[in-house]
Amino acid sequence: MRPFGHINASTLDQASDALKKDGAVAIAGGGDLLGALKDDIFPIYPKTVVNLKSIPGLDTIRLDGGTLVIGALATLSDVARSPLVAEKAGLLALAAGKASSPTLRETTTVGGNLCQLPRCWYFRKLNNRFDCARKGGDRCFAAGGDNRYHSVFGGAAFETAPGVKKLCVAVNQGELAPVLIVLGARFKTTERLLDAGEFFGVGVMTATVLRRGELLTEIQIPLDPAAQKSGYRRFAFRKSIDFPVINLAVWADRDKHYRICLGGVAPVPYRAAKAEALLEGREITPELAEQAGLAAAEGAKPFDANAYKVQLIKTLVKRELLSLISEAN
Ligand SMILES: Cc1cc2nc3c(=O)[nH]c(=O)nc-3n(C[C@H](O)[C@H](O)[C@H](O)COP(=O)(O)OP(=O)(O)OC[C@H]3O[C@@H](n4cnc5c(N)ncnc54)[C@H](O)[C@@H]3O)c2cc1C
Ligand code: SF4
Repeated sequence: MRPFGHINASTLDQASDALKKDGAVAIAGGGDLLGALKDDIFPIYPKTVVNLKSIPGLDTIRLDGGTLVIGALATLSDVARSPLVAEKAGLLALAAGKASSPTLRETTTVGGNLCQLPRCWYFRKLNNRFDCARKGGDRCFAAGGDNRYHSVFGGAAFETAPGVKKLCVAVNQGELAPVLIVLGARFKTTERLLDAGEFFGVGVMTATVLRRGELLTEIQIPLDPAAQKSGYRRFAFRKSIDFPVINLAVWADRDKHYRICLGGVAPVPYRAAKAEALLEGREITPELAEQAGLAAAEGAKPFDANAYKVQLIKTLVKRELLSLISEAN
């Protein structure tokens, strides 16, 4: 690791101000950032690391009227073990408890999980070996290279410089993102309130739409009295300490409105709108679950190396929908 300055922020204002300066980066649990610093993947090595964990009050989990509020600095273990989360948003507790490893979950945070950088191996290669588009470089090495874990729904276009557009095919594979999207969560930042589905984005050295100096402060989950069934599922090659290749969350209410969101298939969490439309107002049956799996994969344009993901989408969506009916019986 190279030398850098370190600030223990004591307020959000102090952290935001420090982060507006060139070469500053925020750290929460460090589960993602420390690896990136050690591996020296940054196009310009950070000058200052701004610690958010020293800001009091950002790690609480509480009920505020009809809203479950989770501080951005709550750890994944806090969420996984919270009786309140288990009662009000069970699939979030389930997903948080599946991320990384028990030890990492003790220190890594909800905010860090949602803001983590992509895992694309060109992007993560030691010593910034591949100066790819996502780092402000000219090209995407994965598009014509080893893309077995990359997007099956195309790349995201973004500006690497004013007027210069590039494409990135890395996926968002964070554990919590699909869950918070189907729960209709809102993300509070130091500047605004965003719907969960608007929070994720693709840009140079970022996986969110947060602006410079803007911080995620809390997640607000509205408790919908009509909510009826929900579930979370992940597929990973190893049983533990492995990112999901694909993860998905499903939610349904009493009027049979469905929400389905997948991670690991597109540059930002992917809402399976065609499957949701097919299911709308209908009771799930084995046949319908199968059709919904097919609909979720519609429009996929995989590379040769990641075509297996299309089959995974069909199977995982079908299985999760089937598990909802078996739970109901
Ligand atoms: C071995 C290993 C296995 C892993 N397995 C998984 C897995 O299975 N699933 C999974 O989802 N993740 C996994 N991770 C990734 C990561 O550790 C977690 O997602 C974790 O939740 C990151 O949280 P953190 O608090 O440590 O974030 P940090 O590393 O501190 O920060 C991550 C990024 O978010 C930014 N950031 C942090 N908090 C905020 C905030 N409040 N506002 C704005 N920006 C912020 C930081 O600047 C940084 O860019 C794994 C990591 C490792 C090392
Ligand atoms: S997929 Fe994105 S992160 Fe990976 S090499 Fe291409 S531009 Fe870089």
